[in-house]
Amino acid sequence: MKKIISILAAAIALQIGGCATTTKDSVSGVHRSQFMLLPSDSVDKMSAQAYTQTIKEAEGKKTLNVDKAMLERVRKISNRLIAQVGVFRPDAAKWAWEVNVEKNDQLNAYCMPGGKIMVFSGLIEKLNTTDDELAAVIGHEISHALREHGRERMSQAYVQEFGLQALAAFVGGSAGSAVAQGAGLGSQLFFALPNGREQEREADKMGLELAARAGYNPDAAVTLWQKMSANNKGAPPEFLSTHPASENRITDLKALAPKVRPLYEAAKAKQS
Ligand SMILES: [Zn+2]
Repeated sequence: MKKIISILAAAIALQIGGCATTTKDSVSGVHRSQFMLLPSDSVDKMSAQAYTQTIKEAEGKKTLNVDKAMLERVRKISNRLIAQVGVFRPDAAKWAWEVNVEKNDQLNAYCMPGGKIMVFSGLIEKLNTTDDELAAVIGHEISHALREHGRERMSQAYVQEFGLQALAAFVGGSAGSAVAQGAGLGSQLFFALPNGREQEREADKMGLELAARAGYNPDAAVTLWQKMSANNKGAPPEFLSTHPASENRITDLKALAPKVRPLYEAAKAKQS
């Protein structure tokens, strides 16, 4: 039975080209093969809808892009990072990227599938974040999107919830209507399912390389984590509860920094 299921799963994966890695190999060495079952365009569509909804709600509460200087700063840093995404996957350079800032005390930021970025003002104000540190956070979040971790999590949740049979039907042609029904589901899944440890490691590594390529100091990823941890007195900040910190993470970032440093130095030389 197990064998039949695995054959079926493999067949479905092949049919929609699901079993592959979403990004090209690079200095940071992220190349885990991913089992993706939901179609990428459906996930992106659901995410875009959820993002639009979030923007509308923030506008209603007058918390969207309140501080124009802060918005400009976040967009400038994000755009420099986005200019480098083609290294990892050329198609992402053509995504409909959006960058906004929400007035919110939480230490958090996210990038939804398809390139919809939101940075919370608390992350900047409470930690007095430098440009390099901000690039480390946004680079990390962009990397989740490049690796399509959201789609991966949704695919896993879909199989767990409805089983492979439902999945076969989904892939077999009724994908459109199923996605329409699942529009709300998509955003719920995105925010409710935490990234796994391996996904976080990948986002850390790729984010570090992305920031270096954009001319941001890779050491900033470490100081950012230290600031986050120092701020972690009393209730843990949102970012840490969705991104469990550990000494390992800092150790990994420190180990990778020398490898991406030449990329950083080359980018700096080009800028000056
Ligand atoms: Zn993360």
